[in-house]
Amino acid sequence: MSDPIHYGKQQIDQDDVQAVVDTLNSAFLTQGPQVAQFEQALANYVGSAHAIACSNGTAALHLACMSLGVVTGDIVWTSAISFVASANCALYCGASISFIDIDADTGNISVAALTQKLQQAKHTDSLPKVIVVVHLAGNSCDMQAISELCKPLGIKLIEDACHALGASYQGDKVGNGKYSDCCVFSFHPVKSITSAEGGMITTNDSNTAKRLKQLASHGITKHPTELQLAGQPNWYYEQQSLGYNYRLSDLHAALGLSQLAKLNTFIERRKLIFQQYQTALSVGNLTLLEQNPEGESAHHLVVVLIPNNKRDAVYQRLADMKIHCQLHYMPIYRQPYHRISDAAINTFSGAEQYFANALSLPVYPDLSHQQQQRVIQSLLEIVNE
Ligand SMILES: *Cc1c(COP(=O)(O)O)cnc(C)c1O
Repeated sequence: MSDPIHYGKQQIDQDDVQAVVDTLNSAFLTQGPQVAQFEQALANYVGSAHAIACSNGTAALHLACMSLGVVTGDIVWTSAISFVASANCALYCGASISFIDIDADTGNISVAALTQKLQQAKHTDSLPKVIVVVHLAGNSCDMQAISELCKPLGIKLIEDACHALGASYQGDKVGNGKYSDCCVFSFHPVKSITSAEGGMITTNDSNTAKRLKQLASHGITKHPTELQLAGQPNWYYEQQSLGYNYRLSDLHAALGLSQLAKLNTFIERRKLIFQQYQTALSVGNLTLLEQNPEGESAHHLVVVLIPNNKRDAVYQRLADMKIHCQLHYMPIYRQPYHRISDAAINTFSGAEQYFANALSLPVYPDLSHQQQQRVIQSLLEIVNE
């Protein structure tokens, strides 16, 4: 019997192992030089002025919301289809969350739905302070259109790019901050690169960067130019706001830095796998999520759309064959904690359609040609029965 195949997993090589071992043998396990190097390398890669490392992508989202001033009573919007962390970050700040419908063909925020929701919110004086935009599956949203709608209204944008490290949009890397205030990445093992746990926020605003750095470490600064009291001895530090211990350790940063050197190779491999699925599945009349013509996806997920309410049956049949797919995601508003009324659910036609049909197929750099053929053959066999 063949080995089980999962929808995603990391690739770790000897360089990665050595990078972590070297750090273990160094003077610093945390708050050492690896974190700063990882931050600089990632900022260089995406083309942002600043990058701030933190303990995971969820902490990165929380920090991004805090740094943009989200507080109790504020309103934040996010995509109906994302991981729950895209919504929870607002609630951590005491804000309320509301969902924007998606385009069922791309899985990303529908610009038409956003336009309509903004118009309604203007009438009821309930515009959001921040919108968390999600690049589902690694495929960029229409950031220019979203930014043109939001900027004139003073709404700040956070890109949840946890799927999209390595992706580009209009010729620039996602994370360069051309159309947003903050962009957030995760280094969980299923993502483009891993640091086991880890996250990063990129921004071009130096004040936001300063706040992010402080908030990730208790709200404390030691930086001479940032201190409120002058002429203090060298041991002196100040807590200037209520922050958290959301730091990344040097062990994690060493792994992340080593992985970053392989990011482009990983993305190339994912792209090839995506193209092979595209070709093989079109023969079986199955469609994948549409790609943004203005972008290049990071291919974090390959989402196939299975019509006629057959998705759950297909999922189970594949699982019985040890091919473990996943649904990314059930709409957040259907989670018991976030549940909205049935009448409200009916207004999300895009998210509901996507939710009925979507299935994420295995894609990761180490997926062999043979394994992918097994996935394709099994899937075609099941849907053509
Ligand atoms: C993975 C992920 C997160 C959270 O990242 P963690 O590092 O696991 O905390 C947030 N949003 C999206 C879209 C993700 O895929």
